[in-house]
Amino acid sequence: MELDPRTFIFTTTLAAFVMMIVFSVQARSFPESIKGFKTWGFALLVATLASALIAARGFIPDLLSVVLGNGFLGLSISLMVAAISIFLDRPVPWKLLLICVVFIMLGMIYSLAPGQGQQIRTMFASTGNIVLLSVAAWVALSGRNVLKFQFGVYFVSICAGTSALVCFARLMTLLAGDEGYAGLLTESPMQRIYLATYSLNVLLVSIGFSIMGHEKLVESYQDLASHDELTGLYNRRRFTEAAEQEIQRAQRYERDISLILIDIDNFKAINDTYGHQAGDKVIKDIAEVMCQNFRETDLFGRYGGEEFIALLPETQLPDAAALSERMRGALIQRTVTFENKEITYTASFGVTHGQPGMPLDQLVGQADKALYHAKNSGRNRVEIFPVVVEVVS
Ligand code: GH3
Ligand code: MG
Ligand code: MG
Repeated sequence: MELDPRTFIFTTTLAAFVMMIVFSVQARSFPESIKGFKTWGFALLVATLASALIAARGFIPDLLSVVLGNGFLGLSISLMVAAISIFLDRPVPWKLLLICVVFIMLGMIYSLAPGQGQQIRTMFASTGNIVLLSVAAWVALSGRNVLKFQFGVYFVSICAGTSALVCFARLMTLLAGDEGYAGLLTESPMQRIYLATYSLNVLLVSIGFSIMGHEKLVESYQDLASHDELTGLYNRRRFTEAAEQEIQRAQRYERDISLILIDIDNFKAINDTYGHQAGDKVIKDIAEVMCQNFRETDLFGRYGGEEFIALLPETQLPDAAALSERMRGALIQRTVTFENKEITYTASFGVTHGQPGMPLDQLVGQADKALYHAKNSGRNRVEIFPVVVEVVS
């Protein structure tokens, strides 16, 4: 079968329509944290309409086919830019997008005036689309800094960028005065390349966005498996995994390592007096203090209910003890407000230090002994291991 331009455009209509259905289904199954899929589905609906209108050139009034068709095409790319921005939690550049769509539509109306024609039409449409596709490529590329997996954003960016380049080449061919160029449905080589890119691009860029969604889904599941939901800190499993790596590193470079265990004092009483939700707020508060006080190289996490743990690489015992003391002091200054009640709390600290190669279990065991001593000595204290155990007679 000869692939005439109209067939190309018709294929696009079909591809956009099928992708729209796929995206509507995906938008439903993705969690709320993965945004932008409804907007992308809407973009595909608009693209379907645009392609149908453009394919019907000659059968319907030019005002519909040319003005609305090209306007919708610009609008569909704009909505794709919006979807990518929403997905990446970026502000949508609505003003720029709107200007491009209006620019294209005004150009189309102008091209229908007596004496004007296909040349001016292609100039306006190409210029608008080049800007929109470049913005799409650029916005997608900016996602590489915030996402863990980046294949999707590169894929979308390359597809949109390539399309922009093809639009540019088409515009240049036209400006260079390509003799064979007469209209949208002409069978010139450039026109074929343009239409083929356009048809494929609707499909490819949508697949790229779908990959972005799946990559984010995997990222969020990995986060869920390694982070504590309440505080956002590492959970025990992830902490242990990372701490074991850190201990191996310390052993390789023969470096010291310190470990701190923190336990909120009389936490049961806080829960009993103010309720479980208030207790949760206190747990979040201590996590915030930890984030403020530990360094980026320190590893810390929620070890259990109201127990926290930190591994400090290249830290001597006195420094770890001093940091714990500073944190203990910071905690007594804190007030957590819950239902107009002000809650104060304290915590006890067990600090220890390991020679290179000491296993994590042993470090935790030592810190636990120090913590036990802190609790027995009246709480709201920092104790270090080895502790001086008082013999009670
Ligand atoms: P101590 O000073 O000896 O540590 O006394 P404590 O009351 O803090 O010690 P204990 O370990 O007996 O109590 C811990 C309590 O923490 C028991 C449990 O109900 C509560 N808890 C554990 N996880 C959570 C949580 O996620 N939220 C809230 N609100 N409470 C929790
Ligand atoms: Mg406690
Ligand atoms: Mg406890």
